[in-house]
Amino acid sequence: MIRTASFVRNSCLRYWMDNEKVGQYDLSRQCKILASEFEWAKKLNSMARQASAERAWASIKRFYDNCQNPSIKKKGYPKFKKGRTVEYKPSGWQLSQDRTAINLRDGFKAGWFKMRGGFDLNYYQQSQIKRVRVIRRADSYYCQFCIAQERLEEMKPSGNAIGLDVGLSSFYTDSNGCKVDNPRYLRKSEKRLKRLQRQVSKKKKGSNSRKKAINKLARKHLKVSRQRKDWLVKLARCVVSSNDVVAYEKLTVKNMVKNHCLAKSINDASWHIFFDWLEYYGKVMGKIVYGVNPQYTSQECPNCKQMVKKTLSVRTHLCECGCVLDRDEAAAINILAKALRELSRGGQSQTSSLELVNANGHINLCQLSESLVGKLSG
Ligand SMILES: [Zn+2]
Repeated sequence: MIRTASFVRNSCLRYWMDNEKVGQYDLSRQCKILASEFEWAKKLNSMARQASAERAWASIKRFYDNCQNPSIKKKGYPKFKKGRTVEYKPSGWQLSQDRTAINLRDGFKAGWFKMRGGFDLNYYQQSQIKRVRVIRRADSYYCQFCIAQERLEEMKPSGNAIGLDVGLSSFYTDSNGCKVDNPRYLRKSEKRLKRLQRQVSKKKKGSNSRKKAINKLARKHLKVSRQRKDWLVKLARCVVSSNDVVAYEKLTVKNMVKNHCLAKSINDASWHIFFDWLEYYGKVMGKIVYGVNPQYTSQECPNCKQMVKKTLSVRTHLCECGCVLDRDEAAAINILAKALRELSRGGQSQTSSLELVNANGHINLCQLSESLVGKLSG
């Protein structure tokens, strides 16, 4: 099923590459043609086929959108992918009476699968489940349920506002001068990751032992990314619940370019996830989470607004007006001030990323941590 889904996606992409003026509807039509041409493509549930075509279109559309935007240098021409997922809409699957097993019942007749994990599906109505996604990962198969559910938490206003500046020396520095570092266990696991990576490159290409080493590395990657996500989500929740306004620095594509420094690239990804969760919790708790453009935030003096040029190695902010601050703290104060300025001007027209967060299916009413789920379903 997973292979067929990626076959449909890649075929749609090929069709778009080979023909001119292909739109979204042409791709769904192409889906039908594929089903009539290939016996196995017909076996896949028709809505799952459509979902695969939609994914092809999503990557094409992202490419088109990037082409319209001159500030994005890398346009990201759509690539063929070895898929890991298949997505079902309301049909093609069925839950058991106690909702601990799922039956995938399209032409492939995959049958019943028992599900393990910490999420109780009995909490929701059957009609709330909008999509079901089956994912292959290094350690097992996973089933994601996208559920339409309003999540709101009443919070008393705390009267605090905070600005966050992210940097390499610490995970973030806030406008009160507090620094948060990456936890030690994460740094430790990242060291082990490097070791396993070396093990893979030592093995002969195409050998069985290399395959085993790759799987070991992939499992470790999964574990570390779960640990990291768990930590990030808790941190984001903590930051949003104790402040009314959270200002952060929007990461630009320019400084998110792929780099070979492991620590840097991990941090890049982590900040992205962290900001997404900040916005998510902002919506859940009714708080303001605002991203500002990073221009000049590290150069301006928060006291007298004068530009004080510093290179990256200068860690303290020293100004003629007598203002002495930690470099990152000064930046965090600037970020907060900039956000408050823009907010009072009524600049709260940020595009909502809630849909995106929802599409990723992160509504977790059980409040179970990801790492625990990982352990249970491991
Ligand atoms: Zn100054």
